[in-house]
Amino acid sequence: MKDIIIALDGHSACGKSTLAKAMAKELKYIYVDSGAMYRAVTYYAMKHGLVKSGEIIDPKLIIDQLSNINISFNYNSSTGKSETFLNGSNVEEIIRTIEVSQFVSEVSKIKEVREKLVEFQQQLGKNKGVVMDGRDIGTTVFPDAKLKLWITANNEIRVARRYKELLEKGYKVSLEDVQENVKQRDYEDSHRKESPLAKAEDAIVLDNSFLTKTETLKKAIKLAKEAQS
Ligand code: C5P
Repeated sequence: MKDIIIALDGHSACGKSTLAKAMAKELKYIYVDSGAMYRAVTYYAMKHGLVKSGEIIDPKLIIDQLSNINISFNYNSSTGKSETFLNGSNVEEIIRTIEVSQFVSEVSKIKEVREKLVEFQQQLGKNKGVVMDGRDIGTTVFPDAKLKLWITANNEIRVARRYKELLEKGYKVSLEDVQENVKQRDYEDSHRKESPLAKAEDAIVLDNSFLTKTETLKKAIKLAKEAQS
């Protein structure tokens, strides 16, 4: 069995990260959440007043700050999960808020932001044995990944899952806000100029609309084992 790179892409809230984490655990691979990187840059921009509610972002302000943004992941042995750090502070929770979600697609459009993060992602995958999820992993970050999965689920199911997840975390959000945010990000992520969200030609489609997490994982692991041999 050889170590490979597994790329998972798809629309917002389609279950990519749940599956990617579970696959990494099962295969004893490293899990990399590329969305967390874009969220961390967005949070930095919000914290430093480079992005304000209702205002259009001036990309230059963010580009100028890129060298001051340092993102890392640390494994938390008590939760058994990897957590995102921004300049040494744990931002794992705060980057998942709807406020960050509302700006992240704008920030992710910036070419220089993508270049910096793609380079970091490629570095993390250089020894293989990685499961990475995102929007452009199979098309741009690892076009030669041995296994590419395009994860999908129907719209209502995606929105309902994300809504439940946010409520469970204690965030006060409305179903309409979540619906609007998912719709907006899907549109912006698919229509941007720099590496838009798209299915790689050689990606295998995995629709989990009516599958349990265990059933989805079983299918994905079967494909991973085939790709490893
Ligand atoms: O995966 P997640 O929903 O956390 O990603 C947040 C946002 O980060 C996406 O809506 C997208 O704008 C951006 N993103 C991206 N490329 C990736 C991963 C995420 O542009 N590889």
